[in-house]
Amino acid sequence: MNSGPVHTPPRGFSAPMYHTVLSLGSNLGDSEALVAWVVANARQLGSVKTVSSMYSTPPWGGVEQPDFRNVTMAVESEYTPRQWLLWGSNLEARAMRTREVRWGPRTLDVDIVDIEGYSSSDPELTVPHPFAHERAFVLIPWLAAEPAAKLKGQDVSALVAALDPQETVNIHRLGL
Ligand code: AMP
Repeated sequence: MNSGPVHTPPRGFSAPMYHTVLSLGSNLGDSEALVAWVVANARQLGSVKTVSSMYSTPPWGGVEQPDFRNVTMAVESEYTPRQWLLWGSNLEARAMRTREVRWGPRTLDVDIVDIEGYSSSDPELTVPHPFAHERAFVLIPWLAAEPAAKLKGQDVSALVAALDPQETVNIHRLGL
């Protein structure tokens, strides 16, 4: 039987596309290069719809540590929610991410912020991300890249407007 090229699904069996929003962060090592590496990697997996500038953001959670570099991006891809989770933890491992201190410094953090049309309360993969709606380092880059973005039915612009100004004052867009 001639089954045709393996990379083409059988006619009528195209996989669903997922619009997935990712938050990338780093404050150890060459953070800008690490975050850029993840963006480049995501480009291999789907069509990148939006990618924010790189932002400098203060650490969250009270542990003394360097500022973070953050990007929020959206990708449309056949990659499933679980595949994105595995992809992110694989990149974190390759970046030698360790977890000694909760909210501590890290070479790489890849979080799945939201997946259009999908929700999950599984602790292994909670979507939308349980804290994204109140994290300035996720919302501010996301809003700048996608002014009409929504999270849990709310405008991201409204979520940003509701942030404590103390959380936003030291967030800066870098020219990257
Ligand atoms: P973190 O310390 O922020 O890197 O958290 C990683 C852990 O959170 C992993 O065990 C993931 O399985 C879990 N997790 C649950 N929901 C999510 C999500 N939306 N994005 C990334 N990790 C998640």
